[in-house]
Amino acid sequence: ALLRLASLAYYPITFTFTTLKSPLIKDFDDLLKLCDDPEKNPFLPFYLERIPPLMEACKPELVGISITTASQMVGGLTLSRMLRRLYPTIHLTLGGRHMLRLGQSLRELPGYFEAFCNSIVMGSGELALEALISGLKEGRSLESVPNLLRVDAGKVMESDREENIPITEVPAPDFSDLPLEQYLSPTPIVPLRLSEGCYWGKCTFCSRYDTRRFATITPKTAVDQMEDVQRKFAVSAFAINDDCLTPVYLEAVAKEILARGLHVGISLWCKPVAQFTADRLQLLARAGVRLVRWGVETGHPRILKLMNKGTDLEETREVLLASSRAGIWNHATMILGFPTETLEEARETIAFLDRNQDRIHSSILFQFSLLSHSYIVRNPGDFDIVNIDEPLTPFSYEHPFECRSGMNREGFDDFWRWAARHRVDTIYGHPLWYYLRNREYLLLYAARYGRKHTAQWKVCVKGHIVFKAGDRLEIMVKRPEEIPAQLLDMISGLIEAGGEVGLSWIRENLRDAFLIGFALEEGRVVGTLTHKRPKEKYLKYLRKKTDLDLTGYLERGYTYLRPEYRGRGIADRILKALMQGSPGRSIYITIRMDNKDAIALGLRNGMKLAARFINERTGHEIGLFTSTSHTA
Ligand code: SF4
Repeated sequence: ALLRLASLAYYPITFTFTTLKSPLIKDFDDLLKLCDDPEKNPFLPFYLERIPPLMEACKPELVGISITTASQMVGGLTLSRMLRRLYPTIHLTLGGRHMLRLGQSLRELPGYFEAFCNSIVMGSGELALEALISGLKEGRSLESVPNLLRVDAGKVMESDREENIPITEVPAPDFSDLPLEQYLSPTPIVPLRLSEGCYWGKCTFCSRYDTRRFATITPKTAVDQMEDVQRKFAVSAFAINDDCLTPVYLEAVAKEILARGLHVGISLWCKPVAQFTADRLQLLARAGVRLVRWGVETGHPRILKLMNKGTDLEETREVLLASSRAGIWNHATMILGFPTETLEEARETIAFLDRNQDRIHSSILFQFSLLSHSYIVRNPGDFDIVNIDEPLTPFSYEHPFECRSGMNREGFDDFWRWAARHRVDTIYGHPLWYYLRNREYLLLYAARYGRKHTAQWKVCVKGHIVFKAGDRLEIMVKRPEEIPAQLLDMISGLIEAGGEVGLSWIRENLRDAFLIGFALEEGRVVGTLTHKRPKEKYLKYLRKKTDLDLTGYLERGYTYLRPEYRGRGIADRILKALMQGSPGRSIYITIRMDNKDAIALGLRNGMKLAARFINERTGHEIGLFTSTSHTA
């Protein structure tokens, strides 16, 4: 909120700890204006105050500025522009992933190029920088510097040499010039890079489609680097931001970490494939993996196939469950609005998050972007795309497009607003992780407090207070007719999210129930249990299966408690309230015999096993528990 308030002074620019957004920048003219405007650009006064003393102290002849993401563009280019004006004799070179895009646009615009820098390193910088330094020192032409764009006699010239050091020969990162203690973090988190490229490289939406070149440093070298950085900089949190590493490679890294007894906390990006077995995930967790950002992408099988992710939803669920059981925090990245996606399919993605909350602890939603170099841009017909335009600004990788099928723009915008709200309000209930914004902080929380505790912290949005799930709980029991429709919808939605019961009759059965128990916190239903009036047909079925006549009994069912509320006796509290509201009534409940938690809850609260039978449809063994004595 404070940053939003501070942003007002620079309206219409908004900034957070990690981003700066400006609707003012549509082209290079706008960018140049903003870089020179101390009234609208918060970076400029800051640099003008802080940079000159540093330049005086160092007297550099060459300054390199790396711009790796779009959010660093204004900060990075304001700095280079200011240095260019104040120190015209210094050679300024720009590099980083985002400069690849800007460099391509600036090729045609030597005037703008010169406004910001003398040269741009396109791609890997190690060899280019070395050659640039010696070229400048010896006063040689820069023609032979590899991977370099520069202006010569008013023309942008490109080096005809492309040279890269293979990842296997890149030395360990050196953070010695960074004031790590000044970062807004209780302990430093440093990035490590173990590979280049992506081993899969086939997702149709990805700009890395078919880059082919995939290489890793050896697991031993990876852990050497970790150990080295840890020793020199007292760092124990590592963000391994590689596009996608294989399970086998990660296993080898984990074994190396364990063999050396290193104590580290690690975050990774991974693709949920079956090779992430339970054993492997346990091993990764033991080695210090605390947070994995999984490319789940969608909850709908047709869309997943179109994405060519090489994953399967059932397999994904199993991997995520095994990962969660290993104690790893699972963060899922999801894409909505994929070409041809219908509203029902997009809703299925949101329902997937809801149904799998026990294993997807946090998630992020992205609107689909049609990226340059992706398979879809090159094969639009496969995705019903009829028209692709050039990106709207020279800084963008995203192409506007028209698709003949799926949601239209308006329909998607409505859905997106609903989905964003529903995810935070209903699925996760304003969790602390959502307000951390920066996922690296989540690594610190997961490493220090563990997955379970981190998931329990909530934010009361009105008062900006952090509290533990369950601390502000109200337990209620009501007849269905006493429950407002909106609340009944929430209860029904929660039962659906539980996923253990048939969905078709939930609402009708709730309306016909004897008594509904539920737990409310901050206006969100987080747990429920119901005493239903059983259907005659079902009683006959049970009689046939067990020989028990349960006429006059109430059936207990529709039991579900959000994962972060489990283990705090909340289900017992709802159950006790429900029993108090049903005096003198006999109760039965059917439970799968492998559902240990539900059985324990029943037994703790006076239910006894009366019979067992097999459900032919599912093959599961079912226990029939009653509140009155029968012989099992
Ligand atoms: S989305 Fe991830 S897994 Fe797919 S090609 Fe891109 S980097 Fe690789």
